[in-house]
Amino acid sequence: MERIYNFGAGPAALPEEVLEQARDEMLNWQGCGMSVMEMSHRGKDFMGIAAQVEADLRGLLGIPANYKVLFLQGGASSQFAMVPMNLLRGKKTVDIVNTGVWSQKAIDEAERYCTVNVAASSEDARFSYAPTQDKWRLSQDAAYVHYTPNETIGGVEFHWIPETGSVPLVADMSSNILSGPLDVSRFGLIYAGAQKNIGPAGLCIVIVREDLIGQTLPGTPTMFDYKIHADHDSMYNTPPTFSLYIAGLVFKWLKRLGGLAEMDKRNNAKAALLYGYLDSSGFYHCPVAKDSRSRMNVPFTLKDAALDEEFLKQSQSRGLAQLKGHRLLGGMRASIYNPMPLEGVQALVDFMREFEQKHG
Ligand SMILES: *Cc1c(COP(=O)(O)O)cnc(C)c1O
Repeated sequence: MERIYNFGAGPAALPEEVLEQARDEMLNWQGCGMSVMEMSHRGKDFMGIAAQVEADLRGLLGIPANYKVLFLQGGASSQFAMVPMNLLRGKKTVDIVNTGVWSQKAIDEAERYCTVNVAASSEDARFSYAPTQDKWRLSQDAAYVHYTPNETIGGVEFHWIPETGSVPLVADMSSNILSGPLDVSRFGLIYAGAQKNIGPAGLCIVIVREDLIGQTLPGTPTMFDYKIHADHDSMYNTPPTFSLYIAGLVFKWLKRLGGLAEMDKRNNAKAALLYGYLDSSGFYHCPVAKDSRSRMNVPFTLKDAALDEEFLKQSQSRGLAQLKGHRLLGGMRASIYNPMPLEGVQALVDFMREFEQKHG
């Protein structure tokens, strides 16, 4: 079977070139006689790989020198606890903006450790928009402000960075990191699970301003302490070596294509094509407010939900895979992360148009 266009939300499509290089290097990495999977994480070869991965990520995002880059496990979900455990720093309250499923999870977990002020919420409109900052009610003495720049399930994205003054801004960028240039200095902490826009599952990247770490809540497990990982260059224990290596190949691929400015252009073009078609059609509907639409995850419904199954069956047979919406929302969702080429989105739009002509 040919490779298909994979619109899955995560684990998601990887660049074909990256998979090919991994295949070519699988049994014998650069003549060392073994696979990256078999290497000691403390050996010279893997230490070199890890250092290059960090250098390339720093280069791509322009990460300032006073930020640590940590390569962790436990997924973005562990960060829902690690962030309060590390960043409360003696304070009792945090501000969290609620824009859907992932922010709600961040809220629920943080409530185990502190008082959560829901600074803004789009629940009033079924989480279909990103509340503008004039609607935010920040508390007096918050340890940090947390938001979810891209809600992977609802398809809601902030196209601006909130202003929080001297209060550290924390962002769960699991599904939109590396989708375009980013001013990292605006953030206290950024975290992202790898399996959306970075690489294989098993790796979670944390970028944190170094003055914020080292004051954990009493009782914090060693493995949940950012300072421990920072002091050991993410080698306190065994890191997810193969995921790190593949993420590194993805970073090289991004650099070869022209970096994040080029990705920005490509992602704009893909999103314009798909949303443009959705808006021109009376058959499909995107529930997200126009100014808050995600460039990465595009949810949409068919006029008649009874046609969903047929849509999924036919799209699959055309090599357009994993378009089924999240079980909480129903409908469809097309995730179009960095590796999805414009041709893939064009193939989807062509199919959707045909389907509309037949069933509309
Ligand atoms: C997928 C996702 C998560 C959860 O990631 P895991 O790695 O499965 O823990 C959290 N936040 C966002 C925005 C996500 O897209």
